[in-house]
Amino acid sequence: MQTTERKVEIKPINCSHYIGGKYVESKSGKTFKNINPATEEVLGVVAEGGREDVNEAVEVARTALKGEWGNMPVRKRSAIIRKIGDLILERKQELATLETLDTGKPIWLSNSVDIERAAYNFHFFADYMTTVGNESYQQDDIAIHYSVRRPVGVVGLINPWNLPLLLMTWKLAPALAAGNTVVMKPSEVTPMTATVLAQICTDAGVPEGVVNMVHGFGNTGAALTSHDDVDAIAFTGETVTGSAIMKSAAPTLKKLSFELGGKNPNVIFADANLDDVIETTLKSSFINQGEVCLCGSRIYVERAIYDEFLERFVAKTKELKVGDPFAEDTKVGALVSEEHYNKVLSYLAIAKEEGGTFLTGGKKADMEKGFYVEPTIITGLGRDSRCVREEIFGPVVTVLPFDTEEEVMEQVNDTHYGLSASLWTGDVKRAARLSAQIEAGMVWVNTWFLRDLRTPFGGAKRSGIGREGGAHSFDFYSEITNVTLKL
Ligand code: NDP
Repeated sequence: MQTTERKVEIKPINCSHYIGGKYVESKSGKTFKNINPATEEVLGVVAEGGREDVNEAVEVARTALKGEWGNMPVRKRSAIIRKIGDLILERKQELATLETLDTGKPIWLSNSVDIERAAYNFHFFADYMTTVGNESYQQDDIAIHYSVRRPVGVVGLINPWNLPLLLMTWKLAPALAAGNTVVMKPSEVTPMTATVLAQICTDAGVPEGVVNMVHGFGNTGAALTSHDDVDAIAFTGETVTGSAIMKSAAPTLKKLSFELGGKNPNVIFADANLDDVIETTLKSSFINQGEVCLCGSRIYVERAIYDEFLERFVAKTKELKVGDPFAEDTKVGALVSEEHYNKVLSYLAIAKEEGGTFLTGGKKADMEKGFYVEPTIITGLGRDSRCVREEIFGPVVTVLPFDTEEEVMEQVNDTHYGLSASLWTGDVKRAARLSAQIEAGMVWVNTWFLRDLRTPFGGAKRSGIGREGGAHSFDFYSEITNVTLKL
């Protein structure tokens, strides 16, 4: 049994709402506890927002829309947005520590991915916004048609717990770049970095009332999605929550952007470079404890290399150290909460009932405290198994052999999800042919999670609505008016 001996110099914070450029408590005075998933200790308390707090935040955001933010010269707004990215980097150690305390993810990951990328989201959109153009068409000598943009208005940003700062900034940066005002609702289990981010925005020069935040549970989010005076909702989270939000936003016909769940296939052909496959598949299976929407949790391997793949993949997985997120050599930290841990363990029980074989893991890790699950590779499950079909969102993958392209493609698309897929093959024609057939928003060929922020990001089928990234984000956060000028 391992214990966790930690040297953490940065202290956790209590989390208040942020409204009108100030931290404020809930009108009801209610709070809830924030738990460290790696130790089960209480990190602090979080203000529990109700409808009245959401109402105030929306009213403040609506008033701020009339201020200078949306009408500011682009270069000035861009400089402020760039500064937010700079300040995130200046406070990187603090933010990375808070993210690891909240999520249980390894500190090296918070440092190298979450916080770096959060800063880059602002740097990217600060540059991008200065290049945005509009459409224009000359209709013979009759008219010129051109479009103009304005902010959509007050936008609600609702986010999950797996990449808290990265995902919040992925929405906040373009929303601000396009001149909107916002109300953020972070996940109840990971409130700390968003709390710091709100202050960073003010420190960077964002006018008061432009960035607001209300903490709380699902009902706090629902108060935002049903609010009369909110114009758009950008949501990342589970597919079922997306469906509930769609219903609650329907009466006021809000503009919606949804990035939802996935059950992504990772298809490996015998002509792929197996060294690359193993190295990347370890990441696409277990990085961030498998709590990444893009993780390739359904692995399909061509039968000719099935045994070799498994032997090497199992050996490498056994080397992954599970444990204290603040230890440098930890590769897999704690799952984010007790509730989620129990959900992942329940799928391991289902796999057992369904007759699966655990080649690694299959159980909680040997830690004194905290919500740790061993990286788990399961074989022997049929395509109808719940573990093959449902999103587990933990360090759990299933591996199935296949014989033909047709057979594997049929299984790849046999799902309601359609977020992403990985294809491994040395045959470029096959890669192009199959990529076009995969019903997913993103296909990676011989790689995984390689991102360029200009590209469309989002899911097909029940994995999302709309795309974000570059022009796609900018279009979502802008209202476009066409002007026809008769000549
Ligand atoms: P949830 O859908 O449970 O929660 C997401 C956010 O929505 C939280 O802030 C949550 O509040 C809030 N919420 C819950 N119910 C409602 C409601 N009725 N109305 C408005 N807001 C609500 O997702 P998880 O936090 O469990 O995150 C994991 C999921 O996110 C996985 O399915 C994963 O695939 C998906 N995801 C998708 C990504 C993508 O890009 N496609 C990226 C990352 C994750 P509360 O804190 O109380 O739960």
